[in-house]
Amino acid sequence: MSPTELTFYNALMAFSVFTGLLVFLTLFRLDAPYGRHARPGWGPGIPNRLGWIAMETPAVVVFGGCFWWGGGFDSGLAWVLFAFWQCHYVHRTYIFPWFLRTKGKRMPVLVVGMAILFNCINGYLNGRYLGVHAAAYTAEWFSDPRFLLGTVIFFGGMAMNWWADYHLIGLRRGPDGGYVIPTRGLFRWVSCPNYLGECIEWCGWALLTCSPGAAVFAFWTIANLAPRAYANHRWYRETFPDYPAERSALVPGML
Ligand code: NDP
Repeated sequence: MSPTELTFYNALMAFSVFTGLLVFLTLFRLDAPYGRHARPGWGPGIPNRLGWIAMETPAVVVFGGCFWWGGGFDSGLAWVLFAFWQCHYVHRTYIFPWFLRTKGKRMPVLVVGMAILFNCINGYLNGRYLGVHAAAYTAEWFSDPRFLLGTVIFFGGMAMNWWADYHLIGLRRGPDGGYVIPTRGLFRWVSCPNYLGECIEWCGWALLTCSPGAAVFAFWTIANLAPRAYANHRWYRETFPDYPAERSALVPGML
């Protein structure tokens, strides 16, 4: 990285931390208007599935392009990390949306646009760092406790996230079915185990790569999903009078 780019990279990380804090505070007062919190007044919308594909594609493409640009495929074993990232994002972008049972639902272009920006920034911060520092990810790194523990956390979080997402999707009986109280597995303890899994996953990623861009990304994900989990939890309580009182929003027994 040239000194100019390094300055830009560091400024972008600072910007991400700042906006992450802003988003965290804002989302406790304002529910992001998609999914169960969709409501009129947020401008034009696009079909839900298309929205997911459009907003997540930069995470696949920008990350991949920056990794390649930095020389990620030329040295070291950093391509393993490339595969980890793409395992999450290729699924999220091109597989998950086809299972959604939200026919007819739309997502505001504004939400899609903001998510595109978020994914471009994080794709660059993560892909560029790993590409440029690919040579540092040697066979030695792959037996380092930080990599091993981070990998367990990453894939454990991913499994939790996938299981919870597909469980929720399966609750809806047909495309016109309504919302149901989830009762199985991790849902006995928290309202949003899919968000908890996602937060755990990216903390694992930060540990297994030990990269600053990944730490910023983990922070951003928590800043975005923690208030969303509270909003969903509140919505469940308001919508279903018999919603289990002992259930937490995001962290069992705590939050
Ligand atoms: P939700 O839990 O709100 O919804 C997931 C899917 O299940 C949607 O199709 C939703 O339908 C459906 N659903 C949810 N609850 C019920 C229920 N009680 N009964 C029937 N159907 C239900 O998740 P999101 O849509 O917010 O997020 C999806 C994925 O994207 C998650 O894995 C999340 O972690 C990830 N994500 C990551 C972000 C990040 O910052 N990294 C940001 C946002 C999401 P409907 O859409 O109609 O509500």
